[in-house]
Formats: sequence, C-alpha cells, structure tokens
Amino acid sequence: MTPTITLKPGKEKPLLAHHPWIFSGAIARADDAHDGDTVDVRDAAGRFIARGYYNSRSQIAVRLWTWNDEPIDSAFFRKRIVNAIDLRQSLIETDATNAYRIVNAESDFLPGLIMDRYSDFVVLQFLTLGVEQRKNEIVELVQEILEPEGIYERSDVDVREKEGLQSVVGSLRGAEPTELIEIQENDSRLLVDVRRGHKTGFYLDQRENRKRVAKDLTGFIGSVGAAKPVRSPEILNVFSYSGGFSVYACAANETARVINLDASGDALTLARENMRLNGCDERGEFVDGDAFLVLRKYRDMGKSFDAIILDPPKFVHAQSQLHSGLRGYKDINLLAFKLCKPGGILATFSCSGQVSAELFQKVVFEAATDAKRDAQIIAKLSQSPDHPILLSFPESEYLKGIICHVVA
Ligand code: SAH
Repeated sequence: MTPTITLKPGKEKPLLAHHPWIFSGAIARADDAHDGDTVDVRDAAGRFIARGYYNSRSQIAVRLWTWNDEPIDSAFFRKRIVNAIDLRQSLIETDATNAYRIVNAESDFLPGLIMDRYSDFVVLQFLTLGVEQRKNEIVELVQEILEPEGIYERSDVDVREKEGLQSVVGSLRGAEPTELIEIQENDSRLLVDVRRGHKTGFYLDQRENRKRVAKDLTGFIGSVGAAKPVRSPEILNVFSYSGGFSVYACAANETARVINLDASGDALTLARENMRLNGCDERGEFVDGDAFLVLRKYRDMGKSFDAIILDPPKFVHAQSQLHSGLRGYKDINLLAFKLCKPGGILATFSCSGQVSAELFQKVVFEAATDAKRDAQIIAKLSQSPDHPILLSFPESEYLKGIICHVVA
C-alpha cells in the first residue's frame, strides 16, 4: 500500500492554498509510512491533497513536494532544479555575479534543499531526512546539469537535529574547493570560505542590499564626483562578517574609511583580505569585539559616524525568544542612532523570520525615539531575489532592512 497520511477534519485548508508544511498535530493517521518516505496526503474523507515526505520525529511531519498526482522521481527533481536555474538566469546578471542561491528550499518547491553557486563550485545543504535520503540522486543531477568543478556539502545546521540527523560536511563530487574561493559579486571580488564560513560560506541574501546601501551612501555622504563630498566619511560596519558591505562602500566612495566590527577573528581576517583584494584595506579598521559593548564604548567616548550598517545574526530562533530578541534589536539600534551624525545614514537589518517587517520597523522607531533622533526611511529592503519568497509560504520571508536618513 502507498504510504499515506490522513489529515484530521478541516486540516487540509492551508494545504489547499499550497502551504508546504503539515504539523504533526494535523495528522489523524499514518499508514505504512516510515520516516523519510514519500507519502500521499489525504483529507479526512480520503481525497488526495498532495504528495510529500514524512518524518515522525519532526514537528513538521510532512513537507510537500507537489499537489499533483505525479511520481517523485529523478525526472521530477530534474524539472524542479532546472526551473530554479532558469529563474536565476533571468534574475542574475551571471557575467557580473557568479555566486548566488540556485535552490531556496520550499520557495523553489524543493523543501529542505539549499543549493548555492560559488564560481565553479556548488554547495549543498540537506536540511531534512526527506532530502538526505535522496542525496545521491540530487548530487547526480547537479553534476549532470551544472557540471561544476566540485560539489561540497555543508549540512552542518541545527535544524538537522530536529530531524534526527547529524552534521555532515565534506566533498561530494569532483574537486575539493580551495581554502578560499574567489567570487565576483556585482563589481566586487570577494573571497569565500565554503568549508568553514557561515551558512554555505557567504551571506548571498544581502547582495542587492550591499549594492543599495553603497548607492545611498554615495548620495548622502558624498562620493567621487558628488557636488559636496564629505571628506573621508567614517563608516561603521557592525557585524561585518567578511566585509561585504565595507568593500562595496569603499568602492562607492574613494575617500571612505570603514571600521569592520565583528566578534569573530576569522571573519575579520577574511574582511581584511577582501578589502585588500579590492584595493581598499588601507581604509579599513578591524575591531574584534562584542558589538553591544564596543558600541557602548564608542558612545561613552563621544564617537560618531557618517554611516552605520547594522546586520546582526538572528536574535530570534523561536517564538519563545521574541521578547529578548526584540530587546536586542532595540538596544543595538538605539546605540547606532546615538552614534550616527546628523545627515548620516543608518542601514539596519533583521534576519529573524519571527520578527515581521512591521514589528522591526516599530522597534527601530522606538530606538530612534529613545535616542532622541529624527529619521526618515529612504528604503525598505528584503532578501535578494535568488532567495524568493513563496507567496503561499510567508515563513520564507525572513530578511528585512531599513535605510534611515538620520536627520537630526
Ligand atoms: N553583514 C554581513 C553578515 C553578518 S552575519 C555580510 O553582509 O556578509 C552576522 C555577524 O555577526 C557574524 O559575522 C558574527 O560573527 C557576528 N556576531 C555575532 N554576534 C556578535 C556580537 N555580539 N558582536 C559582534 N559580532 C557578532
């Protein structure tokens, strides 16, 4: 018998609207279904709703592949991967940018699978048992369709624990990636450590925002050719990681100076190398420390900056952390507003999915109020389009940013 999940009455509603998850509480019966199996999902009356994969260990017990009665085989995966590649080809100028997300899991109808391109290498993340069990098939297809120099696995993510899986990192096919892979992103060259770096090596989701922030910096604090350029504007890149925003900012303004602030020494080493690669390391400073403490110290010293970029790690991992997470966002934004010169720019981000864009804006507003600053929103930002947001899956929207012109 086909492994089948039968839903409790009424629980099919979100699925009919193509939400791709079924929580364990919505399930009435699991017949012949083993963890990792492809399962048919039926409503309480026995009608076919969708097909997905099952894991009894996870609260998200089923993730859906399709709403059609079609086989989940190699041809299915090929079609989904090719569709995802086609979308990127229309979204990304691949001459100018050779690093981007090819498959964004649920948002590309391949739940649990992340596929990123870094120049000639492909990095994969298998987040769930359902995709873990199809790893060979997927790797085979990636090899055949993309013919990369190498395929590397970075399945070292916390969510795997909830699926009953351990971390796995290593080469899957072809050449081992070099210690650092050089990528081209818009006009910048950047080094990426796909073996040990954050995520699959780089924050690809911020690509368009790096460009946008740099553009606004040139408009507001002067740049090459600007009517009244601010001489040597001081930029503070808080949570800089490998210096992506810094490299862009220095390219946009040839007199800009940037402090990269991060709690990771490795990230700062890479930030320095990235600035060197783009000929601007002499305009960079590299501060290893806790942003909350360093920003307080700068405040006490009476320091101020022409522009501040604030791109913290995820503060809210679960609903239970919402309160403390919001306090963290408020605190860091309050300090940033205090440190920003009148006429300056604050580009502030949150990558916590649990914090809506509306809520984030409210926190930034409260921070400005407490800092006694007036600010105008000049841009609202989201994740780069190679991390599409599936309309039927609002959970896929996680990154939001606000660029503020700090008036006074
Ligand atoms: N803006 C970066 C990505 C930032 S990711 C980019 O565009 O690539 C968040 C960074 O915050 C990580 O590099 C992490 O090392 C750093 N970090 C985490 N907690 C920190 C803290 N308390 N103080 C300073 N840096 C911190």
